[in-house]
Amino acid sequence: MANVRLEGITRKFEDVTAIEGITFEVPDGQFWVLVGPSGCGKSTILRMIAGLESATDGNLYIGDALVNGVPARQRDVAMVFQNYALYPHMTVADNLSFGLRMRKADSTTIKERVETVARSLDISHLLDRKPKQLSGGQQQRVALGRAIAREPKVFLLDEPLSNLDAQLRDGTRAELKQLHQRVGITTIYVTHDQVEAMTLADQIVVLNRGRIQQIGEPQDIYAKPANRMVATFLGNPSMNVFPATYTGEVFQVSGQVLPCPIALQTQLQLTPAQTIDLGIRPEHIEINGLIDSEGIEDNKNNQLVLEVSVVEPLGRETLVRSNLIASDIVLNVQAPANWRGHPGDRISVQLDLDKLFVFDPNTGDVLYP
Ligand code: ATP
Repeated sequence: MANVRLEGITRKFEDVTAIEGITFEVPDGQFWVLVGPSGCGKSTILRMIAGLESATDGNLYIGDALVNGVPARQRDVAMVFQNYALYPHMTVADNLSFGLRMRKADSTTIKERVETVARSLDISHLLDRKPKQLSGGQQQRVALGRAIAREPKVFLLDEPLSNLDAQLRDGTRAELKQLHQRVGITTIYVTHDQVEAMTLADQIVVLNRGRIQQIGEPQDIYAKPANRMVATFLGNPSMNVFPATYTGEVFQVSGQVLPCPIALQTQLQLTPAQTIDLGIRPEHIEINGLIDSEGIEDNKNNQLVLEVSVVEPLGRETLVRSNLIASDIVLNVQAPANWRGHPGDRISVQLDLDKLFVFDPNTGDVLYP
């Protein structure tokens, strides 16, 4: 096992800078997840750690060894891809033992290792089958098993669950976490799926356009995102972000009024007429009730009036997609499962003002809290 350290890693493809000055260190035995939208550079980072691609600039260490220029096969890392890439003509047992046989391990070690790995992934009953006789989930477990059987120093996983259907993905995700708890190999996992990132990671690295946006524990990043990109990327449904103008103790939000919390006024020292972006998660907005159009006048100060556009019952809760009236500002609200409303309804909602975020409208940086 080993730690993995990237120091100022940059990767250019002719005129495209895919990765720019990335620095982080994954301590020995931890499970880190690289997450970000398509094209942010996640796979390129993983491929550089694997040795399948080289950095244009910077240093990469596995353990204490500088591995710039060390070929992939000498790095002692195992990589599992989205497409399982099993050897189709070999049985499961032969797939699992392939790496060990290449390293000329003795037959007793191979047999023991294959049996242990197969047991831990619940594929012992499949050892004599060929890959095409397996389901997608079973194939993926064999691919993981093949990597684990080698007992690499570092385990690299590139979207390993994305070919599985939703139910199997949830199950395999949990198995993967248990597996890591058992074997404890340093693991770096790439995904664009924020649920996988939140559920699996010791630490999440959020990437956008080839740069690190934030590194931290899942709950910390969710509670204290560094900027609007991170705030809206982690969390489903996403955080609502909308423009507001400070007019002294209150915000104007598309013609409606929202009180500005004292703590926020004290911390930010906003100037009158200053425009900022406010953020609030759907679970921090509460529906007070339906209102008729005349009721808007009586609406209290700390509430907003929305028009419902789509109602999505999700079983455990209901997602109410809506707009501020007479505005294209979208506010999604997480309502109780038994909430009944319809598109076109006007609702009054209350924001938990303690949960407000303020973003710089130009840079996207968090200004508050
Ligand atoms: P996805 O989730 O879609 O797989 P990603 O975050 O893994 O995306 P990368 O595959 O690492 O992103 O690509 C990062 C950037 O580098 C993209 O803009 C991509 O177009 C570019 N890129 C990757 N490989 C090459 C290449 N061989 N030549 C030119 N540009 C490349």
